[in-house]
Amino acid sequence: MAAIVIDGKAVAAKVKEDAKARAAGLREGGIIPCLAVLLVGEDPASLSYVSAKEQALAEAGMASKDIRLPREITEEELIARIAGFNADPAIHGILVQLPLPGHIREDAVIAAIDPAKDVDGFHPVSAGNLLLGRPGFIPCTPAGVVFLLRELGIPTAGAHAVVVGRSNIVGRPLANLLTRRDINATVTICHTGTVDLARHVREADILIAAAGKPALITAEMVREGAAVIDVGVNRVADPQAKKGYRLRGDVDFGPVAEKAAYITPVPGGVGPLTIAMLLQNVVDACRRQTSVCP
Ligand code: NAP
Repeated sequence: MAAIVIDGKAVAAKVKEDAKARAAGLREGGIIPCLAVLLVGEDPASLSYVSAKEQALAEAGMASKDIRLPREITEEELIARIAGFNADPAIHGILVQLPLPGHIREDAVIAAIDPAKDVDGFHPVSAGNLLLGRPGFIPCTPAGVVFLLRELGIPTAGAHAVVVGRSNIVGRPLANLLTRRDINATVTICHTGTVDLARHVREADILIAAAGKPALITAEMVREGAAVIDVGVNRVADPQAKKGYRLRGDVDFGPVAEKAAYITPVPGGVGPLTIAMLLQNVVDACRRQTSVCP
């Protein structure tokens, strides 16, 4: 079998168009959805993520407030900046680009964001709402993965989904989402403590790799006809490439594509969906704060 290669950009384009139309509706009422983006330091990968998000917001007719802060900023100073945005009615969402320098506690910074403006969905209130099945912000990458499955008509009800990775931003929230009644998958979560990863992965109807380990998932591990969603984005040295590296997912793409029914490429798979879902969360945040219905 040769897999259908999922065009994440095309799916994301539809989501972005929808966010753009909803933002236009708000603008007609004189409201411009605005996201404050805080970047600490000058990590090149973070810089490129931040500019991609800001560009997508602009293309969707939304505003962003770009806050670049020195690496030496203290945790207290960063939290004070967040408090300012929490109190500012013209700012509807707050995004702190991770990772933060080691002297700043990420948990404390995320907890300082007003949950009503937590468009990344990382705040404990958002995580709790997701766990309890209540409305709230859903982290963008897990939301994007679920949207992709739905959009492609990949059956989830009763399917066995195996999620490799248990981070708070991808693996855990995704596993949670997949067990919601409207999705109804049976979920196995794997991590570095899992004994015999291959045995678990082989049982997946839907495999989601979010480990951050290039080509961790090989063809021998994948069940014939599985849907394979590769969240991993890994920089792998490549002297031939312009930048000296290329991006690789967590899945050994070529051989796995021979066995799977569906597969997402890296880049061009899940990544575009993550940004598209952020746009939706910013519009949602703006609508709720300006009482333009939930
Ligand atoms: P993370 O915080 O480093 O978490 C990685 C998870 O994978 C951990 O739970 C870890 O287990 C598990 N893991 C690592 N090696 C493993 C192995 N050999 N076997 C089984 N489990 C293993 O990473 P993350 O933030 O979740 O991100 C995961 C990947 O997705 C990264 O490549 C990241 O760049 C990418 N990502 C992509 C997007 C996108 O938009 N496409 C968005 C976010 C992240 P332990 O808990 O036991 O350590």
